[in-house]
Order: sequence, then C-alpha cells, then structure tokens
Amino acid sequence: MRQPRHPPRATSRRGLEHRERHELRRGRRRAPLLEAAIAASRVTGDPLDRTSVREVRRPDSDDDRLRGCVAGNGHSSSLIEILDDIVLKCYVTTVKLVVQVKLQPSTEQMSLLTATMRRANEVCDWLSDKAWDAQVFRQFALHKLVYCDARAAFPDLSSQMIVRATAKVADAYKLDKKTKRSFRPLGSIAYDARILSWKNNTANLWTLSGRQVIPFVYGEHQRVLLEYERGETNLVLRNSKFYLFVSVDVPDTEKKTVLGWLGVDVGIVNIATTSDGDNFSGTHLNNLRARANRLRRRLQKKGTKSAKRLLHKRRIKESRFSTHVNHCISKQIVATAERTSRGIALENLDGIRSRTRASRSQRRVLHSWAFNDLQAKISYKATRAGIPICHVDPRNTSRECRVCGHTEKANRKTRDVFACLSCGHTADADVNAARVIASRAHVVAPYADRGEVVVSHGLDLQNSAILWRS
Ligand SMILES: [Zn+2]
Repeated sequence: MRQPRHPPRATSRRGLEHRERHELRRGRRRAPLLEAAIAASRVTGDPLDRTSVREVRRPDSDDDRLRGCVAGNGHSSSLIEILDDIVLKCYVTTVKLVVQVKLQPSTEQMSLLTATMRRANEVCDWLSDKAWDAQVFRQFALHKLVYCDARAAFPDLSSQMIVRATAKVADAYKLDKKTKRSFRPLGSIAYDARILSWKNNTANLWTLSGRQVIPFVYGEHQRVLLEYERGETNLVLRNSKFYLFVSVDVPDTEKKTVLGWLGVDVGIVNIATTSDGDNFSGTHLNNLRARANRLRRRLQKKGTKSAKRLLHKRRIKESRFSTHVNHCISKQIVATAERTSRGIALENLDGIRSRTRASRSQRRVLHSWAFNDLQAKISYKATRAGIPICHVDPRNTSRECRVCGHTEKANRKTRDVFACLSCGHTADADVNAARVIASRAHVVAPYADRGEVVVSHGLDLQNSAILWRS
C-alpha cells in the first residue's frame, strides 16, 4: 500500500468547502467531483481531507493508488467504495459514432424532403452572403445579426431550421475565412431534437408542409448503437435515397489491463502488418485502384455527361469497397489483441503527408484517405472493446532493427527484406516495422513502469532472430 509523500493535514469540512468555493471561482477545479466527494463523506461520516479530494480529482488517478491513499488516511472502506464509484462516474468518456439508417419515404414524402433540403440550403447560401458581407462568421454573432431578417425572408422555414443553418454556415467558415462559401442545393441538412423525434422504427421530421412520419430500416449493428443517446442528425440524399446519419454517444468500455502490445504497421503494398507476422495484403485492392485510375483518366478525357455519371458511380463503388476492406482488417486486428490481452500500438500519422517523401507512384496511395481510415477504424473498435491504443513516434520505424536497435537506411535491403547491418538480424520488412512499433509502445505506455513482465508476444528477444521467419 502506498503512502502519500506528505501526510495530509486534516481540515475541517467548513474549511474545505470554503476552499472549494474559492477554487471554483478561479475555475481551477471540477465542481461535480468535489461535490460528490463531500456528499460521500457526509454519508459515511469519514473525515475528508485534501489528499483524498485531490486524488479523486485526478483524471488519471489509478485505482490502487487512490485506494492506498485513502485507506492510508484511515478512511472506512465504504468511503473508498464511494470514491471509487465517483471516479468511475465522473470520468466516463464516450466515443462518438455515426449510425446510418435508411429512410423509406413515400413518393410524396420524397418530394417533400427534397424540397425541404433545397430550401434549407438556399437559406444557407443567403446566410453565407450576409456573413461574407458583414465579415461576421461566429455562430452566435451571426445569429444575432441575421436571425430576424432570415425569419422574414424565409417565412416557410421553422425557426430551428434557421438556427441549424446558421450553425452550418458558421461551421463552414471555421476552416478559413478567405473564400466565400456556397452550398450544394441538395447538400445534407442538420436536424436536432426540436425538429426530429424518434418512435420505434419511424422518424418524425420537420418538412416544409409540417411534420412527416417516415419509417426507416437498419441492421443489427445499428440497432444496438441506436440504444445510446442520440445527438445531432443529418439528413443526407445519396443516389436518390434518403439517409439519416445519427451521431450517438457510446460510453467507453472500461480499459482492460494489457500484458503487452500488438504493433500494427499500415502500408501500401501490405495494408496492415502486425507484430505477430499477420499480413493483410493490399495487392488485390491496389490492382483494383490502378484499374479504377486508368478508367478515370480515360473517362475524364472523354468528358461527356454519361462519362461523368459513370465516373461518379465508380468513385462511390471504390470507396465502398475500400471501407469494407478496412472494416474487415480492423475487426481481425482488434479481435487478435482482445484474445491475447494486448493493447494496440499504431504509428502517429498526424502530418505524415508533409513528412514523407514517397515516390511519385506511391504518393497517390499515401494521400488517400484509406490510410487514416484504417487507423480510425482500429481505434474506435478497440475503444469499444476496452483495448488501449498507443500512438508511437513513426520516425524510422522501417529502418530500425527490432533486435539491436541499429537504425540505418540501408538496413532495409529491398521493399520486403530487412537485414540489420549491425547484428545481422533478418526479417520481413513490414513485420520488423510492426515489431518496432510494438516495442515503442512498451516504452511510451504507462504499463511499463508497473514492473509487469512486458513481453510482446511470448518470444524471447535474444532468440528472436531465429524464431522469426524472414
Ligand atoms: Zn540489428
């Protein structure tokens, strides 16, 4: 049991409450936590001192440490339990996921929704004009400036529609204020609880001629997710079908304690390689992409209307396939990590575009969203399963030797073969990179200093050169 470094001074509750108010005024503390801690102490009758409060306040407060600290101060076990509970309740974080459901409107409702969409985007354009003229881009300021005029100019729209449109326009100017924004006539429009309600398998949406009850369909996965609290929803028209994109707050699963890390190297030739040596080849996908690119070039040259239509269709098809592949791969990787009680280590790819100098042919692949998308899918699936994710420094992962740490460009003999110039260790280049990533997570991750045995995959590092297939 760990004792606090400085024995805490016992303080009267009044003194603490005074201090609490003081800190609250200065915006230094989390009011609900202290509130809860004080309430807990009232229930149990235990004295509450600064240390226990401070410990509860720490977002990264470790359960054992908290327990040790509080118990060491002579608190009863029920207070400890309540404090534990507070920590859990106050730091429940959520993942935002978007659930897609398909609306099944009647023909009339279909034209109503289309008309509503057009009108809502018209008001967005109108608002964008006003915002640009006045150079006012923040939502609240813009609202103040234009709300009354907008209500007068668009009397057929509900007030909440105008509020949502203002938010959309303000959001569009967030990236930069150098160009005037305009909106696609059938671009998505936002709904919130005031203009949209749910009942069983129907959504009640505001349209130009009043509320419409529209049935929708979804899959089993979506059904589970829709049980959680629903946030803002977008109405989207895609391929002449209407969808609702519902954002839901899914509470995090409690993080599991991990015994090691599964390193994942994302790449071009191999979409993903794990430190276990599992390989998800991108050959098929890359061939399809190359074919799509050839076709795209040909169609772009042609430039006719039907060519453009086909181009659009192909693009959607391509991205659908890519999404599917990334879902499959991320699912398998997360399942492996879960089965073997490991966390997942990924390269921190922020800013990879500016840092990497890829060859001309590889640049397109590197800049495609699929790269980031795979990591995002791994991350959210892992979070839902309570598996920790560690983002490590991506520098030189392909040049560092996993066994001796020697880093040199020439270590990587060809794209596929890694051969260390210092110790002679040879391995598949991607597998070596994935293992380097896993080993970096050991250093970065908080579990390393707990004295747990951190062996990433049950292999002895000294003999790894013999065990690993090259
Ligand atoms: Zn080496």
